Amino acid sequence: MDKKERYSATFPYPIPEYGAESYWDACNEQRLMMQRCEQCVRFRWHPSPRCGDCGCERYSWELLSGRGRINTWTVVTHPVHPAAVEKVPYIVVVIELEEQVGLTMVSNLIDCDVNCVDFNQPVEVDFVTHPIGQKIPVFRLA
Ligand SMILES: [Zn+2]
Repeated sequence: MDKKERYSATFPYPIPEYGAESYWDACNEQRLMMQRCEQCVRFRWHPSPRCGDCGCERYSWELLSGRGRINTWTVVTHPVHPAAVEKVPYIVVVIELEEQVGLTMVSNLIDCDVNCVDFNQPVEVDFVTHPIGQKIPVFRLA
C-alpha cells in the first residue's frame, strides 16, 4: 500500500452513530454488511432506521460478497481538506454491488491509475485502516 492509500491522523473519519454502529463494527472485522429489510427483503445503503422502499422498520444485517461493478466515478484533483493534500489525485467511485440491481455505495478506488478507471469494471472490497483504528471500506479492480 503506497502512501496515497493511507490516511493521515488528521484525515476526517467516520463516527459510528445513528444506527450505523454495526456497519462500522463489521468493517473493523473486514466484512461488508448492509441492512436488509425483513418485509421487502431489499438491501439498503446507507444504514437507516426504516426501509426507503416499503417503510418497514425491521431489518437484519447481512454479509455481502464485496463484489460489484463501477457505476460511475470522478477523479478528485483538488484537496478539499488539508489532510487530503497527499492523497490527490484519487478516485471516488459509485459501486453497484452484485447482490441487488441498483444497490450502490460511494467509496474510493485504490491501487488504480486515474487513467485506467472505466464504467462497469468489476471491483472487490478491501479495507484500509485510519490512524484512529477504524477500518474503512475501499475497492480495488478485481
Ligand atoms: Zn422494505
